[in-house]
Amino acid sequence: MERRRDTEIPLDTPADALVCGTILTQGPILRGEVSRRTGLSSAAVTRATRDLLDAGYLVELGPTGPRAGSGRPATLLDVRADREFFAGVTVATEELIGVVIDLKAGVRVTRHRPLLSREVDSVVGEIAGLVAELTREFPRSSGRMSRLGVTVSGDVDRSLGVAQYSPFLGWRNVPLAHLLENATGLITVLENNVRGLTIAEQWFGAGVGTSSFALVTIGAGIGSGLVVNGTVLTGAHGVAGEIGHISIDPLGPLCRCGCRGCVEAIASDQAIIDQIRSKTGISHLTGPDAIALAKSGDPAAQAVFTRAGQAIGLALAALANLIGPERIVISGEGLAALDLFEEEVHQSFAAQAFATAAQCEIVIRPLPFDQWARGAAVVAIHDLITPETKNRRTI
Ligand SMILES: [Zn+2]
Repeated sequence: MERRRDTEIPLDTPADALVCGTILTQGPILRGEVSRRTGLSSAAVTRATRDLLDAGYLVELGPTGPRAGSGRPATLLDVRADREFFAGVTVATEELIGVVIDLKAGVRVTRHRPLLSREVDSVVGEIAGLVAELTREFPRSSGRMSRLGVTVSGDVDRSLGVAQYSPFLGWRNVPLAHLLENATGLITVLENNVRGLTIAEQWFGAGVGTSSFALVTIGAGIGSGLVVNGTVLTGAHGVAGEIGHISIDPLGPLCRCGCRGCVEAIASDQAIIDQIRSKTGISHLTGPDAIALAKSGDPAAQAVFTRAGQAIGLALAALANLIGPERIVISGEGLAALDLFEEEVHQSFAAQAFATAAQCEIVIRPLPFDQWARGAAVVAIHDLITPETKNRRTI
């Protein structure tokens, strides 16, 4: 299938992208405020906003307040949400979740499909089918949607569009973005799933207004996305923020990564279940059983959750000591058991965070799993405004 025509967003210079990104994430906003927050001259801001207004990406919301001197009345600028739409799909443990969002990351439609197979061809076919279904369900996107964001777990090189290593999917070096571009006709950007959620929080969630923040997800795995000075860290080899594999106990349990005492080997959902099973001898214990047992007062189960909370707190402290974020957001399905270990998380974080790193705000933020698909779609917006896939497209 031929790739559809690219959008015509007029972003010719880094300054244009900075202006557009600022209005997108912090609008409605006055031109003068854009200039102040970006450090760009008012002439540069005026030039960028004029082109974006002409192309229909921005709207003026009308005069606000009194005229400043003899100049024009100040008008607020905002992004026109329905100027362009974006598809997003995340590959979750048992299903594919797809959304269409508008330019302000508002979700317009959501659809789920079971993940029937982890074979590459099957996953590509199912994602393409899901995107077609989303398009049918939301016909307004017709002619105004040219980008797809996809997220998977594991080591992803976004600039190449390659899933380098995904233990869950059993993939190595799968050029998923390229395969999906051929299957859907949409410009496709591939990203790690935690980083996708991090970018969504950075631009449209709890990270707005911070220059450095971290998103930590707890549950089946324990991972983090890191934003330092406004940039999402990707690492030289596609790996960054793997706080689940910080070892906090060299004599601790064996992790699936092969090392001992990783945070994930102590505090992931499965690690918690395994430890309680071995301590209680209840071989068919499930995750909800584990939570119920601890809540009923079983000391062995409670001790396992306590240790998990301590491990997570130490990981957060390591993260705060290394990058000094203003805020750490904790999310993920593991929050279901939060009241069993939240106190330990805060205590061990406070005990280990160095000096002013302890001032970092810890925010608990439940995000329904559909938000991971929104995160994938936000990566497509991110790619439109701050493209990292140019290298791949010119190959
Ligand atoms: Zn590990």
